[in-house]
Amino acid sequence: MKYKFQIQLFLIFFSYTINAQNVIIKGNLRPGELLVGYTDSLQSVLLDSKPLKSSDGVFIFGFDRDAKGIHYLKLMYKNGKEIIKKLKLKKRKYKIQRINKIKKKYVKPPKSEITRITEERKKIKKARRIIEETDSLFYLSGFKRPVKGGRLTSIFGSQRILNGVPKNPHNGLDIASPRGTPVYAMADGIVRLVGHKFFYNGNFVLIDHGQGLNSIYLHFRKTFVKDGQFVKKGEEIGEIGTTGRSTGPHLHWGVQWYNKRIDPAGILKLNKSITLIRSKIKTINHSHKYSKGG
Ligand SMILES: [Zn+2]
Repeated sequence: MKYKFQIQLFLIFFSYTINAQNVIIKGNLRPGELLVGYTDSLQSVLLDSKPLKSSDGVFIFGFDRDAKGIHYLKLMYKNGKEIIKKLKLKKRKYKIQRINKIKKKYVKPPKSEITRITEERKKIKKARRIIEETDSLFYLSGFKRPVKGGRLTSIFGSQRILNGVPKNPHNGLDIASPRGTPVYAMADGIVRLVGHKFFYNGNFVLIDHGQGLNSIYLHFRKTFVKDGQFVKKGEEIGEIGTTGRSTGPHLHWGVQWYNKRIDPAGILKLNKSITLIRSKIKTINHSHKYSKGG
């Protein structure tokens, strides 16, 4: 009996050492995608020499819609060892989308609205600065599509031409659905901003999922949450409407990692990897701080 116990102890120790530099990195290596990572005994992690937030060995990083080329992920361990991973992004092509029924004021806003638009931008910037400071792993709840059913009317990244004028690319997914359709939080998080009647966004909600990841839901008829509130994945946050720059009832669902524009469709494909990473941290840490609010 004692002998068996010693073998077990040896095996536990042995598997710990060989796994010390085991690295899990999951996600699609192309522009507009988020990747999730986990490794044991992690001290710090850097992407292209910039430190990333990490907690219990868990970290995320993303590549903007227009990112390209080769990137380097550097993992530094508590024992002083380092691993450098070379990440080569695939190329990605985007569609061109022409929309012609947009009201003139939304293509080129009138002078009378400029002050208001500037004020609204400041409020959003302020909320995003708080998001940049959040260490929590709320996103380990996994991800959910914020609307049941509906019709995809615009995908991520499309180059937009509004009434013949080239504008910024589309930074989200548009899901058309009747007014009043419930909209759910895509993951656990803290509501950082509920905006009312903003010029472009209309009524909207911005949620912080930790480590720089955030989601935004635009053009609501009604919102059901308030600033600073903790929400669970799948909790109802508002109802579909057509407020702000919108041509009909739909949800604009946007995702960012810091200021990097991320494709919401790619996020939903990470659920299996999130489950895997959750199982890894459960074996070493039972605090589950990612599932708590606050
Ligand atoms: Zn949109």
